[in-house]
Amino acid sequence: MQKQDTRTSLEILLDISRELATTLDLHTVLSRILTLSTENIGAERASLVVLDENAKPIDAAIIYDGRLTPNTVSQLQDVVANGLAGWVIRNKKAALVPDTSNDIRWLARSTDSSEIVQGKSALCVPLMAMDELVGVLTIVHAEIEFFTEADLSLQQAIAGLAGIAIRNARLYEYSEAVQKRYQELFEDSIDPIMITDLDGRILEVNHKAIQVSGYTGKDLLKMNIKNLHVLHDEVTGSHFDSIPLVGTVSYESVLHCEGNRLLPIEVYVSKITTLGTPILQWIVRDIEVRKDLDTLRSDLTAMIYHDLRSPLANIVSSLEILSTLVPMEDDSAIKSVYQIASRSTDRMQRLINSLLDINRIEAGMQVTEKNAVQIPVLVDDAVETTLPNILSKNQRISKQVAQGLPELCVDEDMIKRVLINLIENASKYSPSRSEILVTANHVSGSVEFCVDDNGPGIPEDFKERIFEKFNRVNSFSTRKGLGLGLAFCRLAVTAHGGKIWVENKPEMGSRFIFTIPID
Ligand code: ADP
Repeated sequence: MQKQDTRTSLEILLDISRELATTLDLHTVLSRILTLSTENIGAERASLVVLDENAKPIDAAIIYDGRLTPNTVSQLQDVVANGLAGWVIRNKKAALVPDTSNDIRWLARSTDSSEIVQGKSALCVPLMAMDELVGVLTIVHAEIEFFTEADLSLQQAIAGLAGIAIRNARLYEYSEAVQKRYQELFEDSIDPIMITDLDGRILEVNHKAIQVSGYTGKDLLKMNIKNLHVLHDEVTGSHFDSIPLVGTVSYESVLHCEGNRLLPIEVYVSKITTLGTPILQWIVRDIEVRKDLDTLRSDLTAMIYHDLRSPLANIVSSLEILSTLVPMEDDSAIKSVYQIASRSTDRMQRLINSLLDINRIEAGMQVTEKNAVQIPVLVDDAVETTLPNILSKNQRISKQVAQGLPELCVDEDMIKRVLINLIENASKYSPSRSEILVTANHVSGSVEFCVDDNGPGIPEDFKERIFEKFNRVNSFSTRKGLGLGLAFCRLAVTAHGGKIWVENKPEMGSRFIFTIPID
């Protein structure tokens, strides 16, 4: 093959740069680089390996006598690890090898014919984009000392263009993959998604949005999001200006579907900037089933509580009548049976009343039955109620009520139930023979009640969650419970203007604290 010395290096580079600028497809770029390099320098074979940011080969191609073989990473693996290309990658320097049989960096490949194993000449250059190594290009000629320093300079200049072309092609490939992934997520989402501009005009909708709304895609693209659902502009701002650039805002609303059908929904809106233009992404979740279930559950619970309350009240009053009719000696069996029955009914009444209170307070009702309560009496009653249980577990309970505490104006029964709940938990979650301490103190305008125990304490990430309904530290705990007690305590204390929280004691155990404002 003759060297093309009739064309200047500048002309060759100009041609190559024009050619490489016409495509962003990585395989086409590789093939063009290999063809142009071999044609312009007059080599007969060449290989190009594309590297990732850790200099690991991710793509490769070989050209031999004008025939291109793509996807040759596995064939070139050993050359990249131990051969001339490997040396160039490690040193980020070009190499001109006049005679490969005299160069230890040259690896004779087992597939090479004996004629090829004899001396050849080679040029190997790193392909750089900015300062990043993106590949390595090796060109080979069967004659020794075929390549000159001028060829090396030209090849290095070609490598500069090739490096940028490969980097652009890879960036393009990456952005195409990201776009494709987003499109798939968008289309396959189980929730309706709509994209709008900042005026609310719908620009894009996914398949689920069409299915749920009942409108055609064309119809939706003519609509404004404001006409499609009841907007909560106290959340979004009337011009969507309250939607932050980072994060999502959400609210419940109603979707106006085709044919005047209304669907309860939860809306999640976020502001996204693509190609310099901010857009809004609306993810809509169908909550019709959840709403129906919520209504059913609260109807059902309200009914159960009311239907349990009156028969229970009958049992309580019958027990009281019985206690006046039957003489009860202090240590008689009748008295002890009566006490068990009476304690159990009291417990059931407390439970039902707390469940009713949860329902009432959650529905926004105020605490109305307030009266002046003496704190020592409140604490004594709570301790006395829980004492039989505590003694049966071989535990001890003590109380420390500060002198001169003012009276509190509260729903006495409700706040006593809060204290009983905390003491019962302290006993339930602590081992036998442990100690429980109940204290009441005056702390900056409030009375602060504490219940301390020597139990396992509360893990950090559960300190808030245990006050939510049905949340337990270990749902598989062998201790019975529904996870409603502390939810009731928080609602009751908050309804009185106070606060409740838990701290872990430095030694062992937890301290549940709640405050009630003195006013
Ligand atoms: P329940 O006792 O019915 O599970 P609660 O709402 O009273 O419901 O308590 C919620 C969870 O908080 C309990 O399941 C338990 O895991 C944890 N917990 C409550 N009090 C204590 C305590 N004194 N020590 C350790 N864990 C506790």
